Amino acid sequence: MFEEFRNPEKAKTLLEAIHRITRHPCHIMEICGGQTHALARFRIEPLLPKEIQLIHGPGCPVCVTPVPIIDAAIQLALKKEIIFTSFGDMLRVPGSKNDLLHAKAQGADVRMIYSPLDALRIASENPEREVVFFGIGFETTAPIHALSILQAHRKKIRNFSVLTSLFTVPQAISTIAQDKECSVNGILAAGHVCAVTGISEYEELAKCLKLSISITGFEPLDLLFGIYTCISQLENQEYTVQNAYKRIVAPNGNPKARQEIEDVFEICNREWRGMGNIQNSGYQIRQKYEQYDALKRFNIKTDNKKETTPCQAGEIMKGKIAPIQCKQFGKCCTPEHPLGAPMVSSEGACAAYYRYNF
Ligand code: SF4
Repeated sequence: MFEEFRNPEKAKTLLEAIHRITRHPCHIMEICGGQTHALARFRIEPLLPKEIQLIHGPGCPVCVTPVPIIDAAIQLALKKEIIFTSFGDMLRVPGSKNDLLHAKAQGADVRMIYSPLDALRIASENPEREVVFFGIGFETTAPIHALSILQAHRKKIRNFSVLTSLFTVPQAISTIAQDKECSVNGILAAGHVCAVTGISEYEELAKCLKLSISITGFEPLDLLFGIYTCISQLENQEYTVQNAYKRIVAPNGNPKARQEIEDVFEICNREWRGMGNIQNSGYQIRQKYEQYDALKRFNIKTDNKKETTPCQAGEIMKGKIAPIQCKQFGKCCTPEHPLGAPMVSSEGACAAYYRYNF
């Protein structure tokens, strides 16, 4: 199914074109962890001209979920009445003291699921228990989270709630691009995010921050075409958005999905792990649906105390260092014994470097 987008001859042609047009040094950030893994897996970076430096962005929802939210998840999971449901990746992400797997070992009813709709099913099968879903993600997964709340409301499932840790990407790009220690001038935007949101916010970013943005997919030819269109803009000093993923991304995104998000969530400030508080960079549940907000329902307060950890995830997600520049990489920090979320997550940059032996 993916072979069409992994064709070696077409890849060679695109690589030759990239080499032909690249004249100046540039730093291109791929936003999504899925792109980071694909670039590492298919060994694309070593094939690029030496002028191009790829840096890894903050687009891994597991990595950016902050410690106070992990601690809140553990607090909820340890309540006897609660069945706590979560994507598998979140179970091993360290909070301030331990992780959800540790809570499970202490007797918490923590269940791994693949979709919030699974959590909804568990809630309807267990009316005597409370079911909490750990809702992490970006604009890509926000519609399915919204749908689970709308369905719970419609079906009158009253024992279901969501601990939300939902982020929006453009504000993070803006923060990174304005950080004087970051040197990003090109962006490979995440195609699946833009498939929901459309591209207008990115057009604003490109213009205001003088960024050359290409909306890109996840297969080798998608990534190479994204890099080609990004370099082509940079070399011509054009600060616009090129849609290099037209088979998936429509200019105005997915209006139905956007409407579901709009119905259930409102924009809020969000704490990003390692990056601090970014204004208007997240979704929170609207007052109309607050009965489905796990923090309110169980009166859990999140505590924004400063993290003390040798993990340099924040520096990695802002593109300031590469995973192998972290002193812990491959020594104290491995996938078996992770010190930070980027080594746990299947989309984390540290896990990509470790797995593909960079
Ligand atoms: S290698 Fe480990 S400690 Fe270092 S930044 Fe990555 S996750 Fe954190």
